[in-house]
Amino acid sequence: MTSYRITLLAGDGIGPEIMAVAVAVLKAVAPQFGLTFDFTSALMGGAAIDATGDPLPPETLVTCRQSDAVLLAAIGGYKWDNLPRHLRPETGLLGLRAGLGLFANLRPAQILPQLIDASSLKPEIVSGVDIMVVRELTGGIYFGQPKGIFSTASGEKRGVNTMAYTESEIDRIGRVAFETARQRGKKLCSVDKANVLEVSQLWRDRINGLAQDYPDVELSHLYVDNAAMQLVRAPKQFDTIVTGNLFGDILSDAAAMLTGSIGMLPSASLGSAGPGVFEPVHGSAPDIAGQNKANPLAMVLSAAMMLRYGLHQPGPAQAIEQAVFTVLDQGKRTRDLMGPGMTLLGCQEMGQALLDVL
Ligand code: ATP
Ligand code: MG
Repeated sequence: MTSYRITLLAGDGIGPEIMAVAVAVLKAVAPQFGLTFDFTSALMGGAAIDATGDPLPPETLVTCRQSDAVLLAAIGGYKWDNLPRHLRPETGLLGLRAGLGLFANLRPAQILPQLIDASSLKPEIVSGVDIMVVRELTGGIYFGQPKGIFSTASGEKRGVNTMAYTESEIDRIGRVAFETARQRGKKLCSVDKANVLEVSQLWRDRINGLAQDYPDVELSHLYVDNAAMQLVRAPKQFDTIVTGNLFGDILSDAAAMLTGSIGMLPSASLGSAGPGVFEPVHGSAPDIAGQNKANPLAMVLSAAMMLRYGLHQPGPAQAIEQAVFTVLDQGKRTRDLMGPGMTLLGCQEMGQALLDVL
């Protein structure tokens, strides 16, 4: 028996509903693969603000650090929108990323044949798309110094941000990307703006250097403007994409929307040691909270990413993903994905459908 300690951060809105489904699915799959999970729930986001006044209570961070992986559902909602910035639920998320040293964000965008109608692009363009965007999360223009709004000599205000990467920052995200590509289609595209930016020239040099250690992975480079165009024009050419914080923010959202279904998209955030955080891309959906209408599949697929990229257990990860595909094949849909001839299920019923398959 291999045992894992998992911290559960159910958070706000639909968070507790979709988390319950993911936990039930993990419990169902565990014995088939000789695993046990030791789950600990902790407070985060609005729920934590209400109970303690702090969106990320220190004891939550301690619990997370002591675990093998962290599952996060969703945080935030109207109730906390007008609080000062340091007390908002989203501030807890930044604190969690910083506190766990999470520098790599993995966002898959996969077009499932069952959901091809959800994409806004033509079926012949998106059919078969299966992309992973690896985004650097703790450096680049969001954090580089100097930053701020300064006064010029003439008294005019000037806003400044600095895009900066050190060699070691590039190398560590580069290695995550090469390793990820190796587990997937063995193709890596590095995206930069090396024709204009010095920081990108260094980025490209370091990525080329790392490629020596990964001869089985085919490496290419694209300028970010071209990458954005290619992503929409011919997305099937991509397997794994690696890029910096700003370009990754934009490209991962663009890639995700090729799929057209926010309720289906998982993500992973990884550090060099310690637990990763696995969460759906969507938010807490306060408009449908507590109504048994939420689509739990992004949360369930996040649990699968936890198994594959956090705990290095591809077997149960694949079993969960296969269960999701099977349920969709059966024509079962939550409200957000409903179409003609499909069977409408609530969040709990979708969870039960997955358990039936597993
Ligand atoms: P955040 O700022 O936290 O990303 P948001 O307001 O941008 O939140 P979401 O909370 O993701 O966005 O909600 C956007 C819309 O998508 C809402 O109408 C919501 O009901 C819907 N939605 C989001 N997630 C799901 C889900 N899992 N199932 C069904 N509908 C969802
Ligand atoms: Mg949003």
